[in-house]
Amino acid sequence: MGKILRVDLANGKISEEFPDEETLKMYLGGAALSTWYLLKETKKGIDPLGPENKLIFMTGPLTGTPSPSTGRYSVVARSPLTGIWGQANSAGFWGRDLKRSGFDGVIFEGISSKPVYLVTEDGKAELREASHLWGKNTSETTKLIKEDLGDKFNVACIGIGGENLVKYAAIMNDCDEPNYGRAAGRCGLGAVMGSKKVKAIASKGNAKIEVANPEEYKTEAKQRYDWVNQSLLKMTLEVFGTATMVDLVNVKGGLPTRNWQTGVFPAADKINGTAINENILIGRKPCFACPIACGRIAEIKEGKYKSKGEGPEYESLGALGTMCDVDNLEAITLAHFLCNEYGLDVISAGNTIGFAMECFEKGILTKEDTDGLEFNFGDADLVVDLIPKIGNREGVGDLLAEGTRNMANKLGKDSIKFAMQVKGLELPAYDSRAAKITGLAYATANRGGCHITGYIEGPAFLAMPFMIVENAMVGDSLKENPEDTRVVKEFEDAFGIFDAIGGCKFMGMVLSSEDWASLIEKLLGYSFTATDFAITGERLYNLARVYNIREGITRADDTLPPRLLEEPLPEGPAKGHVVNLDPLLDAYYEYRGWDKETGKPTQEKLKDLGLDWVIQEIY
Ligand code: SF4
Repeated sequence: MGKILRVDLANGKISEEFPDEETLKMYLGGAALSTWYLLKETKKGIDPLGPENKLIFMTGPLTGTPSPSTGRYSVVARSPLTGIWGQANSAGFWGRDLKRSGFDGVIFEGISSKPVYLVTEDGKAELREASHLWGKNTSETTKLIKEDLGDKFNVACIGIGGENLVKYAAIMNDCDEPNYGRAAGRCGLGAVMGSKKVKAIASKGNAKIEVANPEEYKTEAKQRYDWVNQSLLKMTLEVFGTATMVDLVNVKGGLPTRNWQTGVFPAADKINGTAINENILIGRKPCFACPIACGRIAEIKEGKYKSKGEGPEYESLGALGTMCDVDNLEAITLAHFLCNEYGLDVISAGNTIGFAMECFEKGILTKEDTDGLEFNFGDADLVVDLIPKIGNREGVGDLLAEGTRNMANKLGKDSIKFAMQVKGLELPAYDSRAAKITGLAYATANRGGCHITGYIEGPAFLAMPFMIVENAMVGDSLKENPEDTRVVKEFEDAFGIFDAIGGCKFMGMVLSSEDWASLIEKLLGYSFTATDFAITGERLYNLARVYNIREGITRADDTLPPRLLEEPLPEGPAKGHVVNLDPLLDAYYEYRGWDKETGKPTQEKLKDLGLDWVIQEIY
């Protein structure tokens, strides 16, 4: 659309701006363009929950177009959980609707004196009073806004978790029914939204998205859609959802169990894709323009966990399930639904509960600290009961709302050794001791402990090639192979483009960089090759790295929790393994053109990528 909204919350002023063509060519959109704004417009060391932080929602050029799985938007800000570059991304339909309302993105700055929500419709925008929405969870907020504005509006909002500044609060969208929704989950950006007193953005419109070569784009987009529709990816993900990974990771001995004390979960068959299909699945849900429908609609028909909603996903089965040693599928599913309602990141929430359980097991937390509750591994009811406590910051929930690193710093007694986070962001459900190269990806991901920055789990755990990078296979998963670091670097660069253009990263399994480059070219109308795809991805990756270096990140921060570096897995196919990170880091920095001592991108590298303007930020 070429148009971005700027909302100054301190005085309620809304303005429009139009990024110049050169900037759009360099950064495309989405998380990358947002990072460009964040780096330019904020100073080092700002309070993530203060008025100087900016909260930037941004779609990509492909968002809302017919290319497969292009309903995504990104959110960027300084993260209150990690203190570094915070980025989260979500699909569903709201990204499309923001764009169709006439805007590529929204930059919020300052803090409102009272709760507000933003309405964007047919090229216009206004702030509205939201006091009546404050204190409401995500589906109720969505319902009330639709009652005010009409059913055609789509909503992105925070729940009570974001209002209460839970450090890992999510921003949710498409919460059209109780317990439904898609999450921009990571890095606590829902807390940034809460700190600014912005409850929601409601969007509607039919604006036409300009396409430079409409006929060619349509034909190519349809062809790529058909390829995805006929792919093995669809056959697997549609049938079993992301839960398909439960068995595949468990069989490698890498399914984090009891707060990562082991990687073997004996009851995997109670929570895997088949168990979901046989017991609770009532429907499948796609995102915009996606033939896959990996989303699950589940219902627990009776009993104390009776509920219906959207989920669970592999990551909730891991974090709220195996990490807490819970094998009750119904309880995990309800805990996931509650995270949807309170607006909490399931990965950080589950890891934090698992961490607290181990603290209790070791006597670091006692019943005096836990409102008299026994924090025992395997207690399904406890996991369910803790989600509202965290969202409300009630009792022990106030401590858990801080995330594992903050908790460990408070509790001491070496608990940081089993706080399963990198740079403050809790880890996803793949144990790097069972697939070593994933450890490098966690250690270097710009937003902290993240699996989809580099998305190396496919090749590492499944020996599965991804079309997006040539020669994407990695070697023996139980060996630290320095040459595999090239694949991590190229994956990080390639998948960064998806966050910039508004695409779903699952498409990287099926479509190549040539496919995506050609779509970008037809849409935008200038030459864009697979080489441009790779260089642009590298530019975007380095841009976020520069933000982090400016915030004080060094090589010493590119590391893993001591448990993964020092504590061998006790059983399973990866028994006896830890991650030896340093040789991987050395090789990776070499591929990246980063200084091996400091972890900084060299000045030459930044100049090569056209990032001369950021050199002064870190040199
Ligand atoms: S693959 Fe799944 S997450 Fe990605 S766009 Fe399709 S339905 Fe959404």
